[in-house]
Amino acid sequence: MTPVFSPPLHRQRHQFVIDFVKRHKPKKVVDLGCSECCLLKKLKFHREIELLVGVDLNGAIIKKKMHGLAPVSTDYLQPSYDQLRIELYQGSVTQKDMRLRGFDLVTSIELIEHLTLDDVERFSEVVFGYMTPVAVIVSTPNFEFNPLLPVLAGFRHSDHKFEWTRAEFQSWALKVCLQYGYEVEFTGVGKAPPGQHERVGFCSQIGVFHRLGGRKSCNTLFDDDAEDVFSYTLLYSINYPSLRDNNILRRVLVSEVLYWAEKLKRRCMEEKTGKRDEAYMLSQTEEGAEECLRASEQCMEMEEKQTGEHPESSENCLEQCSGGVPEVQEGEDEDVFWTNRKGQQESCILHRSVSVPLAVLWSCCPKVSALSGSLSNLRHLLMDEPNVKLSQDGSAVLLQEQEEEEDNDVEDSGYGEASQCSHSAEQEGDWEANV
Ligand code: SAM
Repeated sequence: MTPVFSPPLHRQRHQFVIDFVKRHKPKKVVDLGCSECCLLKKLKFHREIELLVGVDLNGAIIKKKMHGLAPVSTDYLQPSYDQLRIELYQGSVTQKDMRLRGFDLVTSIELIEHLTLDDVERFSEVVFGYMTPVAVIVSTPNFEFNPLLPVLAGFRHSDHKFEWTRAEFQSWALKVCLQYGYEVEFTGVGKAPPGQHERVGFCSQIGVFHRLGGRKSCNTLFDDDAEDVFSYTLLYSINYPSLRDNNILRRVLVSEVLYWAEKLKRRCMEEKTGKRDEAYMLSQTEEGAEECLRASEQCMEMEEKQTGEHPESSENCLEQCSGGVPEVQEGEDEDVFWTNRKGQQESCILHRSVSVPLAVLWSCCPKVSALSGSLSNLRHLLMDEPNVKLSQDGSAVLLQEQEEEEDNDVEDSGYGEASQCSHSAEQEGDWEANV
């Protein structure tokens, strides 16, 4: 009976490594004989890994697909706190390179059978004796399974120098363990048809090695055996964007702050004017609208705490948050929530601004508080940001009302263009009453 592997055998081997990574959470992983980087491309999604390295003798094969390891747009738009660096080297596993020491996991998937037996000895010394990783996964074809493979004469690949039986593989592995201080478990992937497993074993046999003494035995070995060897050629390296990079943290924080400040501003404007920006509302999720509402309520609560009075509407809240200053004048205190039409008359749009207190942003926007850690840190991080305008005392973000909204206001209220920068005393009175 011809065995059919589903999923395909190469995927089962990679899945075996991924399952190991999920269980053991290694931080530094190197894949020896990485070929076209297929396994690395899967491993990069496991963000407990901080350093992911691939090595292959064939530099051309690495270069063919290595750009598939680059970050994608979402990695830049929504960077995580996790750090990830990827490095690819051209080099031979029979040679030492000190950059590969101290790893948590080394994988060697269908590689050793491409080496001569002498080179397998060198491989053992380099991997187990020099690199001394915490764990090693080695997979290689199981020769005993070959009769079950369709139309196979000889080895599974023309470049294979040998294919071992289970006994041969185990004999090599146990010798390595004795020599370099490891223990090994034998397993595999690619099951034989029912009733034949005992006789032939897995199609790909796998040895999982663990260093005796675990992580802590590694450092001692290093100190005694330091050798500055750099025999590999670096072909590719990339650092994934991470929020631990201060510049990235600031960029994400600024966009989050501006997004939420804008949202709150619109909410407040709706409260004031009783009008809804339908286009904007359509773009919001239910959740977003709710958050906005909560923010307004929090603003009112803050006011209540400060004044001891319950605000009747969020308009009052805006006024109180503004410190009661009705209008921004150049050189004056800019801590104002909403300017009146008089201000607009003097300088049209420039003086129509909305002030969103950082305290409100910090307490009602979970991402803003998570990114900044504390209110004072938020202020500190925004202080020198050219894209964020803070009030003079640094306690609020100042936003300009957009021209577009102004046009809408005019259209909606039925006033002609001529009235945009000129308002009657009655209108001024209205604004003042509302601010
Ligand atoms: N590990 C890959 C995977 O799981 O997709 C497949 C490996 S492929 C069958 C064997 C790879 O080993 C080839 O890319 C070959 O260039 C590489 N190789 C052969 N001899 C090597 C050596 N001495 N050092 C490093 N890589 C070697």
